Amino acid sequence: MSSDSESSDVLSWRRYLHQNPELSFKEIETSRFIESTLQGFGVRTWRLAPTGVIAEIGTGGPIIALRADIDALPVDEATGTPYASANFGVMHACGHDAHAAMLLAAAKSLSVRPPATGRVRLVFQAAEELPPGGAQQLVEAGLLEDVSMVFGIHVQSGLPVGMAAVGPGPVTANSDRFEILLHGSAGHAALPHQARDAIVMAGHLILALQTIVSRSVDPMSPAAVSIGQVEAGRAPNIIADRARLAGTVRSLQAPTQAIVEQRIRDLAQTTATAFGGSAEVRYMRGYPGVENALLPSGLFAQAARDVLGEDSVQGALTQLAGEDFGHYTRRVPGAFLYLGSGSEGRDFPHHHPRFDLDERALDYGVQVWLRLVDLALDRLAAPGPT
Ligand SMILES: [Zn+2]
Ligand SMILES: [Zn+2]
Repeated sequence: MSSDSESSDVLSWRRYLHQNPELSFKEIETSRFIESTLQGFGVRTWRLAPTGVIAEIGTGGPIIALRADIDALPVDEATGTPYASANFGVMHACGHDAHAAMLLAAAKSLSVRPPATGRVRLVFQAAEELPPGGAQQLVEAGLLEDVSMVFGIHVQSGLPVGMAAVGPGPVTANSDRFEILLHGSAGHAALPHQARDAIVMAGHLILALQTIVSRSVDPMSPAAVSIGQVEAGRAPNIIADRARLAGTVRSLQAPTQAIVEQRIRDLAQTTATAFGGSAEVRYMRGYPGVENALLPSGLFAQAARDVLGEDSVQGALTQLAGEDFGHYTRRVPGAFLYLGSGSEGRDFPHHHPRFDLDERALDYGVQVWLRLVDLALDRLAAPGPT
């Protein structure tokens, strides 16, 4: 169980990071702090990207990777806590300060008692919040090439402190974006027959796009198609020759993702053509969905039950949110666990200016990490299929 010094370390590190947040890809002081803290207890560190830190503890054997993201968000903090952001307009409003602090505290314990049967690679990853994200860069740099399993913890204000959620299957969605440019031809508002109205095309297309989820996607496969931006027109008496729509697509399964993309392309072209215009579609695939594998999620659930109690761990909490941990689970078997951090007054949604966490979650997170390391490395050292 945790010692008092472990508890005070994780708390003070979390508050220090909370007070000094940095935006995605700009985690310069954060990375230095993590690096010097790790080096302070004799852990070897290196970098695979300009910001973010990799470290390793143990020798030989199989390797498991534990990931914490470290970036903050462009949010004006309104918590009023003594450790509120000192960097105006930037806030740790997703709890990545907690992730970094919990992994640092786990590293400190592991540095005193290194694993006997393998290695733990600690991944302090930059830029989860800003596509293309920091994970892809690390994967391309070879982070996971010799790794057997990868694990991530995310605090969750919607789940009470003392609870956790993990299970096999999809956890987050494939998160894509699209942009459609509709081209018509301009004209006088009183002479519509001489023009090709891009706004009318846009109106029909917006409604047509609503049928993708309701008519083209298998109802057993979740998906969302939302238009978030519409731009067109310059004056009330001019028919617009151009309209721009931009939106978001979320899906859990690859076939659904492909169907949605194809339907957006088809509907844009055919709708524009039907009204005498043309369409250009840009579809940008974003973070792949996080998919928990059977064995790693079983080990994570066991670790959480051992720390939090039998009844405190529920199955996977699937959300259509995006999370670049999906780049890791696409590459090697892995699992992502939601750690409850909510309590009364500390249950504002993530990314909210008043987001905060019940700091009891920090100790739980550290203990779950340490228990997981034992269970996973034991399992990997045991003979038989993994
Ligand atoms: Zn977030
Ligand atoms: Zn987050």
